[in-house]
Amino acid sequence: MRRRSARLVLLLTLVLLLFSGCDMLLNYIDFGDMDDDVVVEEPDEDNPEVDDPDIDNPEIVIGSKGIEAIMNHEDIISAEMGEDVFFIEYNDNIPSFSVSDENGEEYYISLSELDELGRVGVAMGLFDAEHCPDYERGDLSTKPSGWVQNDYSWVESRWLYNRSHMLGFQYSGLQDDGRNLMTGTRSFNVKGMLPFENILTDHIKEEDGSAGDDPHKVLVRVTPDFYEDNLLAHGIIMEADCLECDDIDFAVYIPNWEPGVTIDYRSGDNWANSDLPPEEEVEIPLDEATYILNTNSDVFHTLSCSRAPEPDSENYKLTDKSRDELIEGGYDPCGICKP
Ligand SMILES: [Zn+2]
Ligand SMILES: [Zn+2]
Repeated sequence: MRRRSARLVLLLTLVLLLFSGCDMLLNYIDFGDMDDDVVVEEPDEDNPEVDDPDIDNPEIVIGSKGIEAIMNHEDIISAEMGEDVFFIEYNDNIPSFSVSDENGEEYYISLSELDELGRVGVAMGLFDAEHCPDYERGDLSTKPSGWVQNDYSWVESRWLYNRSHMLGFQYSGLQDDGRNLMTGTRSFNVKGMLPFENILTDHIKEEDGSAGDDPHKVLVRVTPDFYEDNLLAHGIIMEADCLECDDIDFAVYIPNWEPGVTIDYRSGDNWANSDLPPEEEVEIPLDEATYILNTNSDVFHTLSCSRAPEPDSENYKLTDKSRDELIEGGYDPCGICKP
């Protein structure tokens, strides 16, 4: 194995070890068996539908648990609820897309317009190092479908939902574009998607290695899985394939769930699992409060703002969160007091 590849494998291992066991890693990423010359699947001319993932009837293998099973949509839902599953192999880990005739092997991003329910659709692109962002990620203000924000003491950062980039900012540079932002749980975002985004970005930015002098160009497709008219996706299918080498070649289903939280995918509404002791509502005393929330309009105010709800209002709530934390949780600063 070349030194560069060895270094890549070590890096990927370290990244994923943060979240999982070592054998789990091997179930998801093809590190480039040199005999494996599949780069991109050719489209099937007789059956043009073959490129579209059948998300109502996916064949899923749960690699992380060593369980091999053909699953349907209901099984995915029960797997989410019952197990600590943050990725599931999709379609035997084989991406089923191909280079489009329209865009060829040139860099592009293709986003779907929101549907009549305000939901995101398939996001896809071909990414290279040249187009990776050299700027910081900005604030996000989009409220994607299914955004019913609540906080839970056991969820990291406490907010259940993040605005999740379907195509990751790190390699796409996409900021506050509503066509690329979906409501995703903290675990979906950080344990499900982020490890794959890190792998993709590191690979795209790698200067040499298994592709020789050619820059790596990675085709990525993210397909949100909205069941019927649900506003919150049950998960996404993420597929990636490097056109230059065999080191990146995977297809996974990432379930949109959070341990300890029951989620109604029709609306995005959520509550603590009934087998957990009820959480005591923590009242923040005034001298520890940072801002006043309007829990109806999702706006936050300075403690002295005349537009803030009165203490006897049912929309009034004191918080000790910082400005950044509130914005991350989907609260907007008041236009009058400009906190
Ligand atoms: Zn590559
Ligand atoms: Zn205000």
